[in-house]
Amino acid sequence: METEENALLNDQQIEAIKHLNGPCMVYAGPGSGKTRVITERVSYLINVGHVNPREILVITFTKAAAEEMKNRFAKDESVEDSKKRQVTFGTFHSIFFRMLKSYCGYNLENILNEGEKFNVIKNIVRTLDVGNHDEEELIKDLILDIGKWKNNLFNRGEFIPKTLESSEFKRVLDSYENFKVDHGKIDFDDMLTKCYDLLRARPGVLEHVRNQYQYILIDEFQDINGVQFETIKLMAEPLQNLFVVGDDDQSIYSFRGANPQIILNFHDIYPKAQKITLNMNYRSQENIIKSANQLIKQNKCRVEKQIIPTVKANSEIQYSEPKNREEENRTICQFIELLMSEGYSYKDIAIIYRTNLLAGSLVDSLLDRNIPFVSRDHIYNVFEHWIAKDIIAYLKGAFNYYDYDSLMRIINRPTRYITKNAMRKAQTYHKDFITALKVKGELMPYQNKNIADLSYHLNNIKYLTTKEAIKYIRKDIGYDRHIENYCAEKRIRCEGLIETLNELEEASSRHEKIDGFLTHIKDMKSSLSQKSFHRTEEEQVELLTMHSAKGLEYKVVIILGAIEGVIPHHKSMDTLEDIEEERRLFYVAMTRAKERLYISSSLIRYEKPTEPSRFINEIRQNDNKKGSFVIGQEVEHKTFGKGLIEQISEKIMKVRFYRIKQVKPLDIDTCIHHKIVK
Ligand code: ATP
Ligand code: MG
Repeated sequence: METEENALLNDQQIEAIKHLNGPCMVYAGPGSGKTRVITERVSYLINVGHVNPREILVITFTKAAAEEMKNRFAKDESVEDSKKRQVTFGTFHSIFFRMLKSYCGYNLENILNEGEKFNVIKNIVRTLDVGNHDEEELIKDLILDIGKWKNNLFNRGEFIPKTLESSEFKRVLDSYENFKVDHGKIDFDDMLTKCYDLLRARPGVLEHVRNQYQYILIDEFQDINGVQFETIKLMAEPLQNLFVVGDDDQSIYSFRGANPQIILNFHDIYPKAQKITLNMNYRSQENIIKSANQLIKQNKCRVEKQIIPTVKANSEIQYSEPKNREEENRTICQFIELLMSEGYSYKDIAIIYRTNLLAGSLVDSLLDRNIPFVSRDHIYNVFEHWIAKDIIAYLKGAFNYYDYDSLMRIINRPTRYITKNAMRKAQTYHKDFITALKVKGELMPYQNKNIADLSYHLNNIKYLTTKEAIKYIRKDIGYDRHIENYCAEKRIRCEGLIETLNELEEASSRHEKIDGFLTHIKDMKSSLSQKSFHRTEEEQVELLTMHSAKGLEYKVVIILGAIEGVIPHHKSMDTLEDIEEERRLFYVAMTRAKERLYISSSLIRYEKPTEPSRFINEIRQNDNKKGSFVIGQEVEHKTFGKGLIEQISEKIMKVRFYRIKQVKPLDIDTCIHHKIVK
């Protein structure tokens, strides 16, 4: 019987697999079997081409994708196990670092990991006193800028940093480079540039590498950057046995310097390259493919591809507009439970989101409902942010005046003019902090008054629900104002910090009692620390960002938080290119689904109404007609009178009524047709 693993290959796939020597590019949409062609071609090279497996190098971008490919190859029974083990599979970083190890003597201790890099750049930013952003944001953005600068081998002169003025950026960059030289370190970007320099500077090494890897295969080629490609070009000479597969519509790493023009111009660089396109989709049901195509068609910078569905079954895409995030999380959990009752298992399901910030409150609901999950990414825990720690310190301090750590943390947030000296003195007196300050702190009258106010506020907090308490700290105690002043003083933007406060406040609404909330925070910390990624055969729902989802597939995909500002992300809305990359991200997420796709846009976030992502409308443009209703049609409702249809979904349509000037979601059955208004 034909199974998924041995399903017959189509003619174009066979052509690609049988390609033996010289450059070749396979260019095709998602689910068309590009990755399968790579693994099958490796087998073919060994079995039919009699290529020594040690000479085959297979590269991709993420560890997860490399593992996935290796596992698929491991299942191929046509190749002897001993030979299988000799093929090299890896990411660009792992393979390039291996060369640096062999030829330059680098070892793991020389690597400056991402956490260390963050701290080094933090120190530089502080020492040079640059930037007018939130420090954490600034550092993250600087890391991206530095990466882009490095990976842009030939256009460094034209590089315009996103974060700082060019001259300031250069100062940070120089300090950073000097630090690494002084400490004998290299970071992940250096692994690529140093490898390129190595191969250019040492012909003997280059010769050796060329002999070692005579056949190079690259998956997800649309995400290759300048340095990676230049290095690969060097390695592939003179045989040019370079076999690449990719899809420009899935290029989602331009923020890290990936250059999709490389795949589009492959033929200019290798005019003799064979070009093969695959147009059958073996992964997803028809509705998913149609909607995804509908979406990606809106991008201007792309090459049109044909994608023919082959999967027979077809189910509706489910779209939900829960009234807030709490309900969004709840309905997702209920949907998962429903899937389980239909015979799916947890590991068939992936929940995909734009940013890690979104996962936090979902994780809460999953833990509550005992739905097992695992994540490839670090799940962002809002409670670990320093701003959350301030709020938590207020909540703890309110119930325990002996909690010196908490109270000292917030005593001057907002400022109450309590000096370090006064606090030191208070600590010598074995009483609660407020009393100790009053007795031992040698306070001036205005300081005394501030302390009395604080004590009054702390006492009030005890009688509030968690959410009320957080609002009280933010507004009545003036914590938000304090943050605004802090930002103004440091000349930094404060949106990110206020967003964190909003996220925290929203997270608190599930725990009415403050002590319950505090216990929950502790539990979250320990649960999340055990959730680092191990891909096991275990029954677990997988949580991942759109960026990590590339190349993977699941029976069921749930996309969460499909609202404007989240996807497209508010930081990536400025240019057409930004929006197009966000659209590709959404496209990648959708096309991971084999059987079921569920998209959710919560109508309220941080107590404010949201707009569903523009991509939802684009997907549904085909779907405008429902029964005999169309968008733009005038209808009449028994209660609200006449209005115009603005949006139509399954059973609901949104109507803007003339009388109430407000869009109302209505049950389709309750409306009467009228004329079509143009
Ligand atoms: P992406 O662009 O998302 O990485 P892809 O083009 O790499 O997708 P694959 O992951 O290789 O696609 O294949 C998608 C699915 O289709 C896999 O489950 C694969 O086993 C299956 N498949 C590939 N070719 C065939 C075929 N000829 N017949 C049946 N199934 C196939
Ligand atoms: Mg693939």
